[in-house]
Amino acid sequence: MRIRTLMGAALLSTGLFACAEQAVPPVHANNVSADAQTLQAHLEFLASDALEGRDTGSRGHEIAAQYIGSNFKSLGLQPAGDDGTYYQRIKFRRSSLKEGSASFVVDTGSEQFELEFGKEFLTGPSAYAEQNEVTAPVVFVGYGLVSEEFGLNDYANVDVDGKVVMMLSGRPAELPSEEGAHLNSSKTKFAAERGAVGVITLHTPAREKVRPFKVSAMYQRAPSVTWLSPDGAPNVAYKTIVGGAYIDYQAAEPLFANAAISLDEILAQLAKEEQPKPFELGVSVTMTRVSEHEEISSPNVAAILPGSDPELKNEYVLYTAHSDHIGMTQDLSQDDHINNGAMDNASGVSVLLETARMFVEAAERPKRSIIFLSVTAEERGLLGADYFAHFPTVPLQQIVANVNLDMPVLLYDFADVIAFGSTHSTLGESVAEAAGQYGIELSEDPMPEQAIFTRSDHYPFVKKGVPAVFLMTGFTAKGEDENGGEIWGEFFAEHYHRPSDQPSLPINYEAGVVFTNINYEIGKTIANAAERPRWLADSFFADLD
Ligand SMILES: [Zn+2]
Repeated sequence: MRIRTLMGAALLSTGLFACAEQAVPPVHANNVSADAQTLQAHLEFLASDALEGRDTGSRGHEIAAQYIGSNFKSLGLQPAGDDGTYYQRIKFRRSSLKEGSASFVVDTGSEQFELEFGKEFLTGPSAYAEQNEVTAPVVFVGYGLVSEEFGLNDYANVDVDGKVVMMLSGRPAELPSEEGAHLNSSKTKFAAERGAVGVITLHTPAREKVRPFKVSAMYQRAPSVTWLSPDGAPNVAYKTIVGGAYIDYQAAEPLFANAAISLDEILAQLAKEEQPKPFELGVSVTMTRVSEHEEISSPNVAAILPGSDPELKNEYVLYTAHSDHIGMTQDLSQDDHINNGAMDNASGVSVLLETARMFVEAAERPKRSIIFLSVTAEERGLLGADYFAHFPTVPLQQIVANVNLDMPVLLYDFADVIAFGSTHSTLGESVAEAAGQYGIELSEDPMPEQAIFTRSDHYPFVKKGVPAVFLMTGFTAKGEDENGGEIWGEFFAEHYHRPSDQPSLPINYEAGVVFTNINYEIGKTIANAAERPRWLADSFFADLD
């Protein structure tokens, strides 16, 4: 299936290889195009070893932010950060679990069982309190999901107020991926809204196949990062959830010691893809941990190109690209320790900077204003974007759309793009029109199970009601000598989040030009349209919150 929209259907070409023969207009009618060498210059600087992998709060990332701000200034864009600057400086709390401090004890009434940290249960640090301890009865709540739309209520007929809930990891297989991912990310909210004081997540055999418990245990020591509001409060949504743990199903037997339904019966239900019902487990648990807090800071960088229309200039099209990456690797067995993040996301920032230049140099100013925002701490959980969505430097209601740029894999002459979000709002029309102008097709999401629409910097804006679109290079290459899907898959398998994601990759900057031109056209179309974009009435994302 191709994405079909009123305008899009006519613009899409018919066959996979049809576009290989079509002449792609090198420069569009408005006489402005991205430039391959400029893209290369930006990317090579941002992904250079000198910037040491641009970790949030690091000197290397500060230099990247300065570079972006300087480029905005040299383009003559207006500052859109704090206090008349290009920078929105964010304070973050980095929390680490104190070595040896986590414990998990099950009390069945007649016996106590202590689980072993790292082998049988895992827990992360608390971003809220340095000392945590909670003792409460445990209620099993299936997957812990609530959705009227999908007829789910895993809290039906159980009272979890003041109790610890135990839920299965993941979600029922029949839920669609994007909606399922959103519901999955709301599980703690569902528990907190019903008064729970702790959440235990049960690792399942299905999860073991995707991500073994041992692998999750390896990442246990990583600190967590949380933004602090301007008054210093950590962004912890559910402070009433005092304890949390992730338990291997192979160690969960003691929790079922008094239960009417055994753990084996639950696992058998899961094997048959049935959804287990909620019930009281009849045991209590005590969870304790000590967390250590440290404060760091890191900037978003923001600039505005004012629109030309006296009315519409008060509305904004927002481009985002994350400038941070994951820093230096701890793996000392390798010679190269710097995660340069060339595709992730020096490429997206380069596209952002070139898009800004195109808007500045185009013969006609767009009617609406354009905001160019490079965000920090994407790799820590979309935090810079989330902060801007909570503390925007222009009124959030006046941001009509977000065009996000994250990890364009510019390693082949792509013939199609995947536009995450395009099926949820009227932005789909703008995307199809823009891509069509460059002979590029829109393809269906080839990996819906990844729910990528919920996994990059546009998502905090989506949650605030802003329609968004996020383009990825598709899996079809223009020439028959290249296999787009294979190249993309190889990048993901061999270089993603590794030191080899660096400028020495065979980067196709001409493909970068096409990618930039399309993203420019998308923003321009939105900026000049009579109506602001809106969510499609039947989209799940139309009225979140
Ligand atoms: Zn990444």
